Amino acid sequence: MKQTLEQLIKLQEIDQRLLEIKEHMGDLPVTVETQELEVASLQSENEQKQSRIEEIEKEIRHHESEIEDFTTKLEKYKEQLFLVKSNKEYDAISQEIDHMKATITESEDVQLKFEEEKTELEENIKLNTNKIETISELLSSNRADLQSALAETTIEQENLETNRSAIFDKIEPSYLDVYETLRSARDGVGMVSIMGEACGGCYSQLPPQTVIEIKENSKIINCPNCGVLQFWDGAEE
Ligand SMILES: [Zn+2]
Repeated sequence: MKQTLEQLIKLQEIDQRLLEIKEHMGDLPVTVETQELEVASLQSENEQKQSRIEEIEKEIRHHESEIEDFTTKLEKYKEQLFLVKSNKEYDAISQEIDHMKATITESEDVQLKFEEEKTELEENIKLNTNKIETISELLSSNRADLQSALAETTIEQENLETNRSAIFDKIEPSYLDVYETLRSARDGVGMVSIMGEACGGCYSQLPPQTVIEIKENSKIINCPNCGVLQFWDGAEE
């Protein structure tokens, strides 16, 4: 039991240091990741808008040539109008002319709507591009900060991880489970040193008999209040 306790204390020391390293990084890893995602999503948005613009341009070209055709036909009908020999023929051609004019107007309206959509897409792309530039600038400075923070601690962190898994394999699984559950619930360490006669995790007073037992460092004891495993680092308060 004493051996398990000693191993848990070592594990707790490693986790404490790993936590310090994590805190040293601060929000940087999350910030960098968020900004990377933002840039990627704006870029893909722009790509989609750009391919829509290409579709629209195709449509615009199609309508342009259609309008051209109709205009040519319209001119021909107008010329024919001078050559008609009967009222019936005149009416028929007039009707064709009206129909052609209406078709051209329709096509021009569609054309105009496409032009408007294109303008709006281009404006959105411009706005997104500005956002991408702003975020990218912040991102590269955050990346540099993160790199230098990592450079300071990477080797230490790797050593800690190696030591951690070595100790981890030695500890009795049932105690490990308890420790790991407490650790993840507290987002840090699953074991604390008592402070005076109080739990080092929740600071509630511990029964005197419990304090004595903890100070003997021979038994694995939970705080009756918060459940965290207790040990004594030897410091008197
Ligand atoms: Zn407690």
